Amino acid sequence: MESIRQLFKIGFGPSSSHTMGPQIASSQIKEIYHDADRFEVDLYGSLALTGKGHLTDYIIKKTLGEDTVIHFKSDALSYHPNGMRFYVYKDNELIKTITAYSVGGGEVEFEGSDIEKPQEVYPHHHLNEIITYIEDNGISFYDYVLNYEDEDIKSYLFEVLDAMFSCVQNGLKHEGVIPGRLKLKRVAKAMYQQAINTRRESERERLLVSSYAYAVAEENACGNRIVTAPTCGASGILPAVLYYCYKQLNIPRKELIKALAVAGLFGNVIKKNATISGADGGCQAEVGSACAMAAAAYGWILELNNSLIEYAAEMGLEHNLGLTCDPVGGYVQIPCIERNGFGALRAIDAAMYAKQLGYLRKNKVSFDSIVKVMKETGKDLNSAYKETSLGGLAKEFGLKDGD
Ligand code: SF4
Repeated sequence: MESIRQLFKIGFGPSSSHTMGPQIASSQIKEIYHDADRFEVDLYGSLALTGKGHLTDYIIKKTLGEDTVIHFKSDALSYHPNGMRFYVYKDNELIKTITAYSVGGGEVEFEGSDIEKPQEVYPHHHLNEIITYIEDNGISFYDYVLNYEDEDIKSYLFEVLDAMFSCVQNGLKHEGVIPGRLKLKRVAKAMYQQAINTRRESERERLLVSSYAYAVAEENACGNRIVTAPTCGASGILPAVLYYCYKQLNIPRKELIKALAVAGLFGNVIKKNATISGADGGCQAEVGSACAMAAAAYGWILELNNSLIEYAAEMGLEHNLGLTCDPVGGYVQIPCIERNGFGALRAIDAAMYAKQLGYLRKNKVSFDSIVKVMKETGKDLNSAYKETSLGGLAKEFGLKDGD
């Protein structure tokens, strides 16, 4: 598995696969072919179908040059639904063609190029191998991360945590309408006020967590600075749970970075063995993965043992199985923002269930097996429900991408 740095990327929304990935691919190609005269780009599959609403064409032109010609192709490349083909021109001649895939979470894989993939730093691929290793060596999930990451990982985790918290705080300040044809009003700030004003304590806690998730998801939908966790679309869930721990439970930052690392480890297992891309696996791969990561983080904060943290994460993913990706108009707004709120609440519930039920009976579903099931479910999902905006809510509303 790669470093958790690859999972937690600080960047700009609204989409890790449709905005960040194409931006990263474009800037790497531009760096190599800095003396090119011009570029052309073909977008395939989900990138072609929902690229406008996700600002794919905007970010490519911004990176490669405003004169870049972009073609939205009607077919998909076989390797992955988020395909791009870059044509590099010099002196009016085509000097290079590079195919790239935005495989989720801002990660890019190249074909026909020497651009290297990030190195694998963890020797284990499955959670059962990791748990065996840490229990044999008497260490925690957090120690395991420290063992294999570089010496700067702690400061990177603080940077990520601070970026997540700034995003929550910014989202709680901002008001107005989110860009795009939906004209969706931002509500995180008002929701936070409702939480403060309500007399019912249980309602207050749930509204607070929700407002934190909405705050980040609304920042993301506006193209502002966020952290992929594991993607932009699902970027509100883990920060909401961590911020709740910080503000309401008074958990110090130095403990929260440990929970963040544990969340990263679980996200990494999903990324390695299934997918974190909505175009590949539907929303279960994005919100489901984020929910599992946040459940693991909250389980850590509750000081659950290893198998109960696994139980929490497993439930976080299991009860998002089959979740479709059908963003209205190709915008990361409906259902995405609300779904972040539900995802954060569900993550907390999953850890609470694990804490209470785990002592009554052993969980029969392992985390590794639910990751496998999520991958298979994603393969079985009709492509209309995998970030194409051709089915579900997007079809009901009748809005085409970026209209
Ligand atoms: S529905 Fe889910 S997977 Fe699809 S864009 Fe929204 S958050 Fe991402």
